Order: sequence, then C-alpha cells, then structure tokens
Amino acid sequence: MNGRALVLNASFEPLSVVAARRALILVLSEKAVLVQGSGWEVHSARRAFAEPSVVKLVHYVRVPHQTRVAVTRRSVFVRDGHRCQYCGAQAENIDHVVPRSRGGAHSWENVVACCRRCNTRKEDRLLEEAGFRLSRQPRAPRSRLWLLAASGDVEDDWVPYVAPVLQQAVAV
Ligand SMILES: [Zn+2]
Repeated sequence: MNGRALVLNASFEPLSVVAARRALILVLSEKAVLVQGSGWEVHSARRAFAEPSVVKLVHYVRVPHQTRVAVTRRSVFVRDGHRCQYCGAQAENIDHVVPRSRGGAHSWENVVACCRRCNTRKEDRLLEEAGFRLSRQPRAPRSRLWLLAASGDVEDDWVPYVAPVLQQAVAV
C-alpha cells in the first residue's frame, strides 16, 4: 500500500494529498469517510479495507491561507492554457510584462505565456511602448492543488473534485 489519496474538506473542496495509509487511518478513526476506493484492498490480521483514493473530512476545517504556487514556465503555461497572452498563438516562451531590465518582478502578476514572435517583437519594452495588449490580467492561482495539476500528478479518480477548483483558480 503505497498509493496516494486526495483529502476533501467536508464541503467537498479538495484540501491536500496524503499517503493512502494516512487516509485510511483518518477513515478508521472516523475523522473522514471514504468517498472512493482505489480498487485495491488493504489487509490487516482480521479484516480487509478498501484502500482510499478519495476521502472526505467529517468536520469542516478552515484553511487559513493558501500557499503561493511557484512561478515556473510550466505553471504559467498551464494557467494561460498554453496560449500567447498577446496574440493567442501557441505559447513557446514566458514573457515579463514589465521587463526585468525595467524593474519588472518575476511574479504571477507580471509573467505571461507568450509566442516566440510576440516575445521577439516586444523586446525590452513596456506594453504601451510596444503597442501590445494583454488578453487578460495575469493573476496568481488560488489553490495549492493547482501545482499538483500543473505537474500532471492528478489521479483519474480525483479529477471530478479537483477540476472545478482549477477552473476557479484560472478563471479570474
Ligand atoms: Zn503572440
């Protein structure tokens, strides 16, 4: 038993990913209920248990603050749907809206996916100088789970729970 399980809040909102063993302990201690099994069984001396793939907490927990997701080429591409945020073409680069040479930060609010052509045309200029417009204002994703999705580590069983959060995180 070395699988992973998605933990949902009592509200069905995804909270975290834990080892399946830890999720089973939550279920057995009645802190969580099994939502979906992995299809595997875990055997103890007397009993067999369904290995959890998705569990839901019995009591709602408040999440005090969300950790910021790291700004990487891959995570920016996922947020921007692999589309250039200036012209809509297939993105190949990331671009600092305010160039780093002009004091622009490497932050979610200042980094966008960009095609090679726009990247070359914009150079080290500000949007107004280059006559460029963003298709939407870049923002930071709101969920830690987003990082997981960006890394492609989402199990099929988790998609129904994780997908709405991702859409919410991206559609800002
Ligand atoms: Zn472009």
